[in-house]
Amino acid sequence: MIYLDYQATTPLAPEVAKAMQPWIEEKFANPHSPSRWGNEAEAAIEVARKQVEKAIGLTGGSLAFTGSATEALNWALKGTVEKAAAKGKGARNRIVTVATEHAAVLDTCEWLASQGVDLTILPVQPDGRLDLDLLARELDKNVLLVAVMQVNNEIGVTQPISEIAKMTHEAGALMLCDAVQALGRMDICAGPDFVAVSAHKIYGPKGIGALWMRKGAEPAPFIHGGGQERGLRSGTLSTALCVGFGAAAKLAEERQHRDYDHVQKLWGAALRALGKDWIINGSTAHRYHGNLNIRREGVDGARLIADLRDIAFSLGSACASGSGRPSHVLRALGLNYRQARSSLRLGFGRYTKQKELVDACRRIAAAAHEQETLDA
Ligand code: PLP
Repeated sequence: MIYLDYQATTPLAPEVAKAMQPWIEEKFANPHSPSRWGNEAEAAIEVARKQVEKAIGLTGGSLAFTGSATEALNWALKGTVEKAAAKGKGARNRIVTVATEHAAVLDTCEWLASQGVDLTILPVQPDGRLDLDLLARELDKNVLLVAVMQVNNEIGVTQPISEIAKMTHEAGALMLCDAVQALGRMDICAGPDFVAVSAHKIYGPKGIGALWMRKGAEPAPFIHGGGQERGLRSGTLSTALCVGFGAAAKLAEERQHRDYDHVQKLWGAALRALGKDWIINGSTAHRYHGNLNIRREGVDGARLIADLRDIAFSLGSACASGSGRPSHVLRALGLNYRQARSSLRLGFGRYTKQKELVDACRRIAAAAHEQETLDA
C-alpha cells in the first residue's frame, strides 16, 4: 500500500514505539500512586509534558494531557464558556470561529449555541484565508473567545494566528488555536491563550492529545473525578501514551527542518507527476505543502479511491470521506457540489518515498484520464 493520508494520521515512529514499550509491557504502576513505581511513572510523565511543551514552544502557560485533540478543543470551548458564565449577569457570551474549522470546533460551537451562546461563523475567502477586516468588524464587547486553526486539515491552508490573537486580545477576548496539523511541521504561532494538539498527527500514538493553557486562562474542569492534572482534568493518565507523545514531540522538534525540506521536495515531485489539468484547492503561498488538495473537472473522487484500492488517500477529512457528505471546507471556499466531489487530498510526510509518491500520482492521473474517456 502507498500511504498518502498523513492528515488523517501518521505512522508511529520506531523511536516512539521503543520509548513506549517498557511502559506497556513491564512498568504498569499507576502514575498517581505514591509507591516508588508510581513515582517513576509520574516522573516519566513530567518529562513527556516538558517535551510536548517545548515542541509547542510558547511561554507563560502549561499543558494538560487529554484523550485526544477533540477533547482538548471541547474542553477549551465549553470550559471557557462555563467559567465566564459563573461571573453572572453581563458576562461575555459570544464565540467567533471560521467555517473551515474542524468538526471538533464547529460541532462543539453549535452545541454551545443550542445552550444559549451567541455564535458567529465567519466565511473564508476563495483561497481559504480569513479576511481580517471581517474579523475586526465582529470583535465587539460581547466576544468571549475566538477559535481559529493554524493549518487546515483538509486543504493545508494556514491562518495568521499571531495577528488574530493580537486583535482578539485588543478586544478583551481569549483565543483558541487548533494546532493539530501545525505541530512538528512549522513553528506554532505565538499569541493564543489555548493551543490544542494531538500525538497521532506527529508520529505518536493515538488516544492522547493535550491542551496548552496560558496561566490564568485555564477553563473550568471538564472531567471530574480524582483531581489529576491539577484538578483540571481527572482520570488516570496512561504513562505509555504520555511517554509516546513526549518522544514524538522531541523527535518532531529535532527533525522539523529535515521533515520540512523533505515535504517541499515531495510537493514539487507530486505536482510534476500529476501533470496539468489539476487545480489546487486553497492558497498555495499560505500553506503546509505536505497537504495537496486538488481537483479535476468531471472526475469522481470516490470512484478514484475505489479504483485505486492500494493507494490510501482521501476526499477531504477522514470524517467527511466516511460520511459521503461533500466537505464543508471545500464548500466554504465556494466550490460547488460537483467540484467538491471531484477533489482529492494527498497527504505525505516523513516516511513517504519520492518514488512511491510519483508512482501513485501517475496512476491517479491515468485513472482520472480513463474516467474522462469512459464518460465522454
Ligand atoms: N483538529 C484537526 C485540525 C485535526 O486534523 C484533527 C484530527 O483529524 C483533530 C482536530 C482531532 O484530533 P484527534 O484525532 O486527536 O481527536
